[in-house]
Amino acid sequence: MRKQLAPTNSSRFIVIVVICLILLAACQKNEEQSAELFVFGTIVEVKLWGASPAEASQAFAELQKMFQGMHRDWHAWEPGRLTEINRAFEQGQSAIADEDIVVMIRRSQVIEEQTGGRFNPAIGALIRLWGFHTSDYPIVGPPPSQEQISAILDLKPSSRDIHINGLELSSGNTAVQLDFGGIAKGYAVDLTITRLRSMGINNAIVNAGGDLRAIGAHGDRPWRVAVRKPGGGSIGFIEVDGDEAIFTSGNYERFRQDQTERYPHILDPGTGWPAEDIASVTVITAEGLPADAAATALVVAGLADWPEVARALKLDQVAVVDESGTIYLTPAMEKRIQFSGDEERVIINVSGM
Ligand code: ADP
Ligand code: MG
Repeated sequence: MRKQLAPTNSSRFIVIVVICLILLAACQKNEEQSAELFVFGTIVEVKLWGASPAEASQAFAELQKMFQGMHRDWHAWEPGRLTEINRAFEQGQSAIADEDIVVMIRRSQVIEEQTGGRFNPAIGALIRLWGFHTSDYPIVGPPPSQEQISAILDLKPSSRDIHINGLELSSGNTAVQLDFGGIAKGYAVDLTITRLRSMGINNAIVNAGGDLRAIGAHGDRPWRVAVRKPGGGSIGFIEVDGDEAIFTSGNYERFRQDQTERYPHILDPGTGWPAEDIASVTVITAEGLPADAAATALVVAGLADWPEVARALKLDQVAVVDESGTIYLTPAMEKRIQFSGDEERVIINVSGM
């Protein structure tokens, strides 16, 4: 006769205790939990405060999936949705985008206008000509010829050449090639924050190598972040005030190089040559997308024109570092940074605000 496997009282008790422990662990609010995720070849560190381990691991898994989609759809040179759109533009045909690409184009069109064309995501052909469609830096070799550069510039590619009809895109200019390198990280960070909030997570920081956005706080203190310094290290620290984004663009990490010169990867769409005299720009705004685009545009504007472009973009928190290490700051930015070095500091009133 088969023996009946009826649970004894004590084994039933053990099962109940184990279930309780599992439930307790799942509901327990951990202090800080973090994960390193990848998008566009960049490590994105996501830190959550006060989420349960179950909430955190679900959030990290969803974000990684979201980043994979962005990588596939927004990459400027790896074959995917954006390279298909660019091929269609080149051939004078229309293409189907997704909502996020449409959002990036619409917002770029406004920023291109506000920055007098200094931010221009339609110059993908120029960026490719310079060899910047790569992840392997530095690029070694001479710059392209002036003839090659002029051949693209003469066609005046602009994000405003793109017509949007629902999700259907077409370009009146076959020279338009989209490259979201100056804006994609910012928008990715914004979408990450939106997703976290929709999951009920309200204390988080999303940091892509010093470009970041935070919400809420780190327990009973604010999130505290370093401001990247050209060549490494930090110029100081900022306590993030609730929901805001901090982005830095610079000329010191990604560049082409020959025997005599360095050619950084941010190009002046007016000349087709790299923007040179600013080493880095840090901008604080409410959202990542405008901060990312603004930092790129101010590098292009250069030491002479950045205050004018900052005014046009209604920025009040900007720090600019020149090649000698001098830091130029708006008054509002000066108040935000706890400086770690003794570099010369110059306050620039971006008046009209
Ligand atoms: P980083 O954070 O590395 O300094 P940015 O946010 O400034 O980068 O973006 C630089 C990238 O933006 C380039 O690699 C290129 O893909 C693209 N880009 C270069 N020049 C411009 C420009 N004038 N306007 C818009 N995008 C640009
Ligand atoms: Mg940028």
